[in-house]
Amino acid sequence: MTDPKAERTFLAVKPDGVQRGLVGDIIKRFEQRGYKLVAGKLMWAPKDLLMNHYKDLSDKPFYKGLVEYMASGPVFAMVWEGKEVVKMGRKMLGATNPLQSEPGTIRGDYCIDVGRNICHGSDAVETAQREIALWFKDEELCDYEFADKKWVY
Ligand code: ADP
Ligand code: MG
Repeated sequence: MTDPKAERTFLAVKPDGVQRGLVGDIIKRFEQRGYKLVAGKLMWAPKDLLMNHYKDLSDKPFYKGLVEYMASGPVFAMVWEGKEVVKMGRKMLGATNPLQSEPGTIRGDYCIDVGRNICHGSDAVETAQREIALWFKDEELCDYEFADKKWVY
């Protein structure tokens, strides 16, 4: 059986989040919660990567604009690990539409428009696996333990 504490999710601070200086705050929230940062990089994502990342939305009217928005500046891509990190990551992000995101969530604290919603988070464990493989090479994922893990679990 796989260790539930080893569940992983893919998060990316979108170009608006990077431009607005929110990378540190978003990292801080996940660190403070007790999750473990496994990988992180600032990158100007190529359009083919973004089109693949959002391929399930390719028939949506906002798809082209979404890819352009995501390609409009660097994003900060990350992998986080811990118990139920996929579900909790989505909860910490808030709803897709920031106007429906509760204050206290990332989107609920920092944005207004669905087309400028600051941060991406995988929506399921299988999606996370696909997205991590798409954005990161295996050797970019750091294999380490927290020295003080007993204070989190
Ligand atoms: P989430 O990012 O919460 O998983 P989706 O996967 O449904 O949401 O959509 C991916 C991204 O597409 C959203 O985060 C948002 O940036 C953008 N998006 C979703 N719906 C709309 C919309 N109606 N108009 C413009 N952009 C949208
Ligand atoms: Mg999604």
